[in-house]
This record gives sequence, C-alpha cells and structure tokens, in this order.
Amino acid sequence: MGVDDDAYDRQKRVDGWNQNAVSTARCLVVGAGALGNEGVKNLAQFGVAKITLVDFDEIVAANLNRCAFFTAADVGEKKAEVVAREAKKISPLLEISVKDAHIEDLPEEFYKNFDYAFGCLDNLGARLHLNAQCYGKLPLIDGGTTGFNGKVQVVAGKSACVECGLSRRDYKLLWMKYSCTGDALDFLDPKMPALPTTTSIIAGLQTAEFAKLVHGCESLAGKYLFYDGLKGETRVYTLQKRKACPVHR
Ligand SMILES: [Zn+2]
Repeated sequence: MGVDDDAYDRQKRVDGWNQNAVSTARCLVVGAGALGNEGVKNLAQFGVAKITLVDFDEIVAANLNRCAFFTAADVGEKKAEVVAREAKKISPLLEISVKDAHIEDLPEEFYKNFDYAFGCLDNLGARLHLNAQCYGKLPLIDGGTTGFNGKVQVVAGKSACVECGLSRRDYKLLWMKYSCTGDALDFLDPKMPALPTTTSIIAGLQTAEFAKLVHGCESLAGKYLFYDGLKGETRVYTLQKRKACPVHR
C-alpha cells in the first residue's frame, strides 16, 4: 500500500501520533446540533471507530446555517440519525450509535462505556448534568458558542469542573429556569446568535483537545479557553476549583 492509499497517512506524520490510540478511543458526543455535527465530522476524519451520539431533537431549517451534515431535505428528521448516516460516509469503519434521549434520562452506568465525552449542548442544565456525571470518571471536553464568541473547557481527573466556573448570573438564570416550571428547563433560553465560523473553530478546538488528551500532551484540563472572534484573539484562563462546588466537595 502506497502512502497515498492510507486515509490517515498525513496525520500519522504528526510527531508522536498514535493512530491506534485515536482509533480505539470510545467517544460520547452529547448534542447533535452545530458543535455535534462538526465534532463528529472531525472524529470520523481522525479515524475514531466508536462514537455514541445523544440527541432527542429534530432538524429545523434554522439549523442549516451551521450544521455541516444537514441539508434542506433533512428537515424533520432526527438530528442524531442524520449525523450518524452522513459520518459513516466519511469513515466506513465508524460504528456510530444513536441515543434518542435527553442526557438527563440516561443512567449512571451509561458513562462506563466511554473514554472521552464531548459537551456539544446549548443549555446550561444539560451541561451541568453531563459535567456531574463525567466528573472523576472520564474527561469532558465542553464547548459553547454565541455569535462571534466561543468557549472550550476541559474537565479531567480532579480538575476544576464546569460548575466551578459558573458565574452568579449563570446561577440566577438557572434558578429562574428551575423555579419556573421545573420540567421546561429550556423555556427561558433565547434563540442564541450562531455562526458557522465560530462553530467550526470551537468544535475544532474541542477535537484538538481530544487528540492532545489521547497522546498525553498538556491539555486545557482545569482551564478554559475563550475565543473572541471579533478581536481574533483567544485567552486561556485557569479555573480555581471551588470548595463549595456540589460536584466534588
Ligand atoms: Zn466543580
């Protein structure tokens, strides 16, 4: 086989790259929206062989500006099913399974099946749930975007977690949601501004963090990266582990 016949030849040329470690990593992707589309695309291109994708939602036309795998013909289909179908075209060896569920409804044992988790969610309640479930069990690479800005946080080992980094405003919003009806956590979520460019950058950073973790490189664990698209800057902040954080106190 010539070098041009190996789909992974060029990434194997990266110093220290271990294709076997990348291919055998079992990945949980939570959310099949913008970040989930782009993240699964990258994982499939890396040659990751096992992905589980969690999403209960259906495609609407307003998703099409930033979801790499969706077309107008897919409107009304389940997001996760379409991502799974299309990702297999990139990597025929990919085994991608779909969970048509809210992440909050999946049992604790579910997380034993994975080595890495990706938070590709658009609401804080689900992100906090995923954070609490992953903490101390498997690294979580959480992403978020709004307009030109985005954020990536890595929680690994006993590092500070997503909840450690919550602001008072986040808590206030969360309290408003929980106290509103209890069962409609997304009720007060406004339709956030969202760009395909920010989606690509943040999902790209999330999957790059995955590659770094797999290879034991220094990652963003315990830190978060803020991307300011208008200034064209990224800033990395170290998060203090909060003593009173309910996830690991
Ligand atoms: Zn914490």
